[in-house]
Amino acid sequence: MIEHNTSPNTVPADTQSPDDVAGLIQLLSCFAAGAAAFYGLRYLFYLDTVADWIAHTLLVLAALLLANVLLYLWLRHLVLLQGLFILLITVLLSFIVVNGLEEGLGILWLYVFPSMVFYVSTLRVGAILCSLAMVLILLILSPLGPMYTPVHNYSPSFAMLLLFTLSFVMIFSYVLDRSRRQHALRLKEMAEVFEHAAKHDALTNLYNRGEGTQRLAGEYARFQRSHQFFSVILIDIDHFKRINDTFGHDSGDQVIQEVSRRLVAGCRQMDMVARWGGEEFLLMLPSADADAAVTTAERVRQLMTRTPIRVNKRALEVTCSFGVAQIQDGDSIQALLQRADERLYQAKTTGRNRIVARRFISEPQ
Ligand code: GH3
Ligand code: MG
Ligand code: MG
Repeated sequence: MIEHNTSPNTVPADTQSPDDVAGLIQLLSCFAAGAAAFYGLRYLFYLDTVADWIAHTLLVLAALLLANVLLYLWLRHLVLLQGLFILLITVLLSFIVVNGLEEGLGILWLYVFPSMVFYVSTLRVGAILCSLAMVLILLILSPLGPMYTPVHNYSPSFAMLLLFTLSFVMIFSYVLDRSRRQHALRLKEMAEVFEHAAKHDALTNLYNRGEGTQRLAGEYARFQRSHQFFSVILIDIDHFKRINDTFGHDSGDQVIQEVSRRLVAGCRQMDMVARWGGEEFLLMLPSADADAAVTTAERVRQLMTRTPIRVNKRALEVTCSFGVAQIQDGDSIQALLQRADERLYQAKTTGRNRIVARRFISEPQ
């Protein structure tokens, strides 16, 4: 639970919501399957100019596109949906182009390919597939084209126009998609930085009071559900005002930072450390009874006193006082915190640098 020192700058690589991508692929699959089925049936029943096997292939590809959607609805495997969709759409468009369907004008379907493939897959895969599509078009428009495929002899001006405009669309799709991804990533980074700032204290990077309260409420709800008890420790730096008054506010800040580091060092990974006020901290220890909490408090107390805190080449002896309370049946969070606060007050009034929990008092060494 201690994540006070983690960097807010780690961002996941993906920028699109999986639901958005899955929804779009399903939509595109249905559209492509509908178009392929339409042309397949048209060739089968109305046009004799195209061989039956071409019509059958289109119908099979339409069925495979729909099967891919059904497979996704069953398995909910997005990567599989993406991979199979890109494969099927690439095969379908290549098939249309190579066979010169629609009197050779089927080649115009290639204009939908770049933007679709960049959005649905990654920039790298998109760039590779667009390059392969370009090689295919060059082959088809070359003298080899009519030799090996039933494509039409495209006029040189059409061929040139197609090459230039399609290259433009591919490059532009790449640039647009790259900037879309960069902006999405930047937004995600900013959201993470803001979320970190909203939950953490700027001086110490510990949880702030708001986040500490939320986590305390979460642990309290767990206690009510499953009777999993926990303890809290309120900690206050002793005579901190003197440090400020004697050495300046900046030195005081450095002391607060070092005290925070020692608090974290003295706790378990699962414990929560929050800056509760100016020079006051709250520790929440899940699954710890009062005795375990006293042991933690004593460890922290000794961490404070064992070595002085070095600030601007001065060694300052800093101590803290501790109020410990364990959650009890019928307790509210307020009652628990009030008990800890009363014990902290008792620790202050009985000499400071000590722990008060129930009737337990640890005398300073
Ligand atoms: P006690 O042992 O009874 O706790 O005495 P104290 O001097 O520590 O307590 P007091 O409440 O009198 O003073 C706390 C001081 O902490 C007052 C306030 O100016 C200072 N303070 C609060 N927040 C900060 C901060 O972020 N940085 C610095 N340098 N000082 C702070
Ligand atoms: Mg104090
Ligand atoms: Mg105080």
